Amino acid sequence: MERTDNRIVRFGEILDMVKSYYQDADLDLIRAAYVYSARVHQGQTRMSGEPYLTHPVAVAAILAQMKLDEASVATGLLHDTVEDTLSTFEDIESYFGTEIATLVDGVTKISKIAFQSKEERQAENFRKMILAMSRDIRVLLVKLADRLHNMRTLTHMPREAQVRISRETMEIYAPLAARLGIYWMRTTLEELAFKYLEPDRYEFILKRLEESVEEREKYVNEVLTVITDKLEKENINTIIKGRNKDIYSIHRKMLSQRLEFEQLHDLTAFRIILDSVSECYTVLGLIHAIWRPVPGRFKDYLAMPKSNGYQSLHTTVIGPEGHRIEIQIRTHEMDLIAEEGIAAHWSYKEGKSVTPEDTRVVNWLRQMMEWQQDLDDPREFLENVRVDLYPDEVYVFTPKGDVKEFPRGSTPLDFAYSIHTEVGQSCIGARVNGKMVSLKYELTTGDTIEIITSTHQKPSKDWLKHVKTGRARTKIRHYLLSQEREKAIEQGRETVERELRKWRIDLNRVEKEGAILKIAQEFNFKTELDLYVAIGHGRQSAKIIVTRLVPLSEREQPKTLALEEKLNTPRRPKGKSGVKVQGLSDMLVHFARCCNPLPGDSILGFITRGRGVTIHKTDCANLPDSDPKRILEASWDDSQPLQRTVKIGLLSDNKPGMLAAVSGVFTSNDSNIIQANVSSIDDTNARGVFLVGVRNVEHLTRIINALKKVKGIREVERLGTI
Ligand code: MN
Repeated sequence: MERTDNRIVRFGEILDMVKSYYQDADLDLIRAAYVYSARVHQGQTRMSGEPYLTHPVAVAAILAQMKLDEASVATGLLHDTVEDTLSTFEDIESYFGTEIATLVDGVTKISKIAFQSKEERQAENFRKMILAMSRDIRVLLVKLADRLHNMRTLTHMPREAQVRISRETMEIYAPLAARLGIYWMRTTLEELAFKYLEPDRYEFILKRLEESVEEREKYVNEVLTVITDKLEKENINTIIKGRNKDIYSIHRKMLSQRLEFEQLHDLTAFRIILDSVSECYTVLGLIHAIWRPVPGRFKDYLAMPKSNGYQSLHTTVIGPEGHRIEIQIRTHEMDLIAEEGIAAHWSYKEGKSVTPEDTRVVNWLRQMMEWQQDLDDPREFLENVRVDLYPDEVYVFTPKGDVKEFPRGSTPLDFAYSIHTEVGQSCIGARVNGKMVSLKYELTTGDTIEIITSTHQKPSKDWLKHVKTGRARTKIRHYLLSQEREKAIEQGRETVERELRKWRIDLNRVEKEGAILKIAQEFNFKTELDLYVAIGHGRQSAKIIVTRLVPLSEREQPKTLALEEKLNTPRRPKGKSGVKVQGLSDMLVHFARCCNPLPGDSILGFITRGRGVTIHKTDCANLPDSDPKRILEASWDDSQPLQRTVKIGLLSDNKPGMLAAVSGVFTSNDSNIIQANVSSIDDTNARGVFLVGVRNVEHLTRIINALKKVKGIREVERLGTI
């Protein structure tokens, strides 16, 4: 049966074909599919005016020509039932079982993809998407057969549809056929598409071919005679084909080599088909003995098969009349694979279907589908002839119809960041196929994604858990780091400011004078901001600034200076209490002397008569418990750091140098002594009470721990009352 056949196929022929290559085929299944298809398509007609049923029958016939299994042929008969009739997936499943229903469903889904994008670079993504959706390779084979028959009957469609469908065929389906190694399908699709896309060009080449047909036939016969005679003498059994090149490949050759039609001499390709590999090399030698080979044109795809499994020897020689002729030499088996590609593996050979043990099929698929994962057991993925061709990727649509590729497990955040960093930063969710989804939604092949943004949105650390792409991850990390840096700058600068204030130095002024930058650079920081970051993170002490800005002579008595200053200066700026009462930060508050709360202590407020609110520690023993209505909720306001005074009592050895050691601890811990009272208890014991400035409980704890480490100090405690 000729492949480019356009005539209407009778159903009986399909049964005969299947029987011819597969004796035990389940013909009842194919019959049932035919009866069902005929029933549901009844009354429908094609653009040609023929009954619709002619189309599924023709598709099934193409699949039978490819020697595919009965499930594929039945699917060919049923492939349009769910899309174009009232039949449902469930109907097909109940009549024909899950396998066939799943195949039909796969074909239906691919048919629903709309190729809207005009961008060339999108074509590969469309192809990948179709491959990814064809979890069962038979889905794709049925779809290709469907497309082939539609192309053969395209003449009945309006011009606009012809062009659209032909472009799709040229960009998507012909390359897919090539990817699957189905050479005849690829060339047929290309030829038909070319005819509709560039009708003038097509006619031009066709006419020239027809004009030169006699001349070429004569030439071809001459070449064939020479080769046949030579091989007969050597007792080599062979089939030699002289095949005219197809119109589309002639067109491409003229374009790429900028040749006129008359300049093309190798319009016929010769193919010598042999029984064994060793004969292939023998014949190659014989051919090269007859005609001189063109240097650089010999290709050994026997030793190095192409990625789609193609194997052959190629050579170009200078033939009769000095014309170049292309010759391909290969075995029968290689020829079958060269023509049928993956279908050759999938077809029934002497009644046997492909078995998972056929490792060549596995290799074939792996190479062809650019299989990137290492498989532990290659058999696994061939189970039930079901193949996840792209196990690691998903393909989704933008609202404009472009296809984007993502790692499996990607979410709307990955999609958003792939559009633009700004879109990613402000992404609050997405509409997938029109439905709202959260940021955690996992993208699925075929989804159409529309990102929803908000100007109030900000990336969070949590987002890192929900992204798969490196781009999104990097952008989120970068954002988080920059936020953290800003915070560190702020903290570091505040610390420096506070430190300098003790020496009545205004940070803004010295910053402006460039003094801070100079100090920063002395310590190998690029800018003062980097220095602030280091101070903010605690990697660098703020005191280094003071040591550079305050003359040594002044620095010798910082304690006294600080003490005086502390006593003369109000403890905190007006209006800043450092405490929030019922969430309000500008309340007039006093700290209770009985428990003297520090930032970090759990606190509450107590309404006094005429003196505003007094802040007590939650566990203060003196807290009046008479009236619960006067108790207010209170908390520390971290945005207003405080300097609080706390009383520390200690018991130590009574010996010289103790006071100096204790003072040193306070100074090195960034704490000012406001009052010191040291007295002897007896010859060996001394008691000290210190009023010192601290920022919070944490700061105090650090000081107490440091004091406990001083040799000679036996007890240290925070005293409640001041
Ligand atoms: Mn169809």
